[in-house]
Amino acid sequence: MAILQRAQPRIRQVTTAHLTQTMSLLELSRAELNEWLNSSLASNPALEVVEPETCPSCHRPLYHSGLCPMCHPPKDEPIVFLSTPPSRRSSNEETDNLPEVAQPVTLADHLMGQIGPELNAEERSIAQYLLARLDDNGLMPEPPFESARFLHASPALVEKVLHAIQRCDPPGVGALSTVEALLIQIESLAENGSVPAGVREIIAGHLEELAHGEFANIAKSLHLNREAVEEAAHFIKVNLTPYPGRAFYGAGTSRSSSDPDLYREAEMTFRVQPNNPTGPLIVEVYAPLSGRVRVNPEFRQMVRTLTGAEREKWNEKVEEALLIDKCLRQSQNTLLRLASSLAEEQRAFILGTDRELRPLTRAELARRLEVHESTISRAVSNKRAALPNGRIVPIARFFDRSLSVRDMVRSIVSDESKALSDTEIVSLLDKQGVHIARRTVAKYRAMEGILPMSLRRAQHSQHAHGRATA
Ligand SMILES: [Zn+2]
Repeated sequence: MAILQRAQPRIRQVTTAHLTQTMSLLELSRAELNEWLNSSLASNPALEVVEPETCPSCHRPLYHSGLCPMCHPPKDEPIVFLSTPPSRRSSNEETDNLPEVAQPVTLADHLMGQIGPELNAEERSIAQYLLARLDDNGLMPEPPFESARFLHASPALVEKVLHAIQRCDPPGVGALSTVEALLIQIESLAENGSVPAGVREIIAGHLEELAHGEFANIAKSLHLNREAVEEAAHFIKVNLTPYPGRAFYGAGTSRSSSDPDLYREAEMTFRVQPNNPTGPLIVEVYAPLSGRVRVNPEFRQMVRTLTGAEREKWNEKVEEALLIDKCLRQSQNTLLRLASSLAEEQRAFILGTDRELRPLTRAELARRLEVHESTISRAVSNKRAALPNGRIVPIARFFDRSLSVRDMVRSIVSDESKALSDTEIVSLLDKQGVHIARRTVAKYRAMEGILPMSLRRAQHSQHAHGRATA
């Protein structure tokens, strides 16, 4: 009886601790979770990291029991699984120094991780120099012969290393110019699907006209019809970026930003299936450690043989380890289910642009996953996703309805032949099924840095001379 009375509040405590811990684990970014796990591993001998099992046919590490998600994909559902953090992939031969802290990763580190293993010592030192020379956009500001002169290296060898860099992710990185970066991206896209007619030609010779929306001129010089040019322009806008390096740090941000979060990698990556591009997406959610955390069975066995205060002391560690293991599984399970829902709900956005963002609220997703809305908010916080086009976006973006509307406002203004008033924009949005107030349009316009009608009208009349004959 006495034992029962003592045990009961203890169980309650564990349950509460359990709930709070699952909740707070969800809130952590992968790097924070990694740090927390490492300190738990250091202070608790009952907790250990082991190599995950691997799939017998594709050798992919399996973080959870059951069949390999890639070899046995579910039907008509996104393929979602926990996978090895990308920073470890390049050196997965060394397993002795597990676990490893996820350091903020720079673009240079990210690239070196990809090419390092195939280079010899001399090539690696050339690579180090070249990677340090990349500008904020990920482009190479000097031709290979200049680097070769500086390094006293063979120009052929420098060229070879530069080509290796140019084959890395994000595509286009290491290119000598914007045009070259775009052409490299096209070649990498062409491997996975077709590229519309005219895309290469527009990039090679008509970027300036494209920037000014002079579709008619482009069509004339390339002997294409206007629809084809528009299709090519849309393809370029959706799939290519002139700033491949920025795609790595997040859209529109440069290395000089003071936000350290930008340097960290994404928590999850969305991809299309190479052999089934129209099929469900593949989502990799990165595990916080490259190994799998578990309670050490020998330690647990050993504690059972102890008695008295000794046993109580170590048993507490076992309990704590079991709790950590359980909470970690639960929070990862929530993250996987969230990722799966996002892949289904926002597929068009993931593969396309902000404009394809579907209005989705945290409450809606919470109902679908049968969790509390605050759980979704926690799971979303501090986390970012890598999209197939190389963009890294906060997961909160998947829920940002204003973004798609702002994008629509921006596109209406960029298509206007004469400056439209905010009221006219409201009615155009209305026709597209978006009902917002005039002052909301004014607010979004300001956020997008679009001038009011009167000032845009002045701009239009300046351009009018050039267009008089068109
Ligand atoms: Zn497999």
